[in-house]
Amino acid sequence: FFITFEGLDGSGKTTQLKLLAAALTAEGRTVVSLRQPGGTALGDRIRGVLLDSRSEAALGTIAPLAELALMFADRAQAIAEVIRPALGAGAVVLCDRYTDSSEAYQGAGRELGSERVLALHETVCEGLWPELTVLLLPSLEASLRRARRRNTRHVKEHGTDENRFEREGDAFYGRIHEAYERIAEREPGRVVAVRDDAPVEAIAGKVWEIVAGRLR
Ligand code: C5P
Ligand code: MG
Repeated sequence: FFITFEGLDGSGKTTQLKLLAAALTAEGRTVVSLRQPGGTALGDRIRGVLLDSRSEAALGTIAPLAELALMFADRAQAIAEVIRPALGAGAVVLCDRYTDSSEAYQGAGRELGSERVLALHETVCEGLWPELTVLLLPSLEASLRRARRRNTRHVKEHGTDENRFEREGDAFYGRIHEAYERIAEREPGRVVAVRDDAPVEAIAGKVWEIVAGRLR
């Protein structure tokens, strides 16, 4: 069973994914968790290139289409190396971001368009979609506050942004938020949106209900 988590930076994906992984493991299920970009040796290299705020100095500005292609190169490797084998072995696969992130960030954020992203998905991911996508949609303000607080702490401790996307403005994130809303409307069977600004445990309870309902 393949489950992805989606949402803006600071929406709590990583936290909720870890809580869900622990709950599923406690039930005796085999869980394989990964994040995108990342999750394989090649993917971690790609993640470094894409996110390191110092890569701009080393590599110049990454063209939006190059960014998109790198995201899909990462995804293709993760599918071949981790996701398909784990699904084949009967594990529950939990992925922190997947193609919806590319539709939201590169398609809408970078304004490359959904069609192009979805066409690439068909080619590069061979149409592999998760059975369930948990879309965390707290208010745009709450997400941005959380993401920026985290980045400020990172700059203090490490002297660089947590990643180069942290420097994008509100309009960029507004487009992403809207794109996620559109995806949820378009695919109600796969995508379940959790729109709360509630505390972590309350959201975890909701996520558990959604997932338990599908796994049974
Ligand atoms: O989810 P996580 O915070 O690890 O994502 C890392 C960064 O990569 C995020 O800041 C997100 O903005 C960016 N990203 C992106 N396009 C994707 C996936 C992630 O811009 N397709
Ligand atoms: Mg995260």
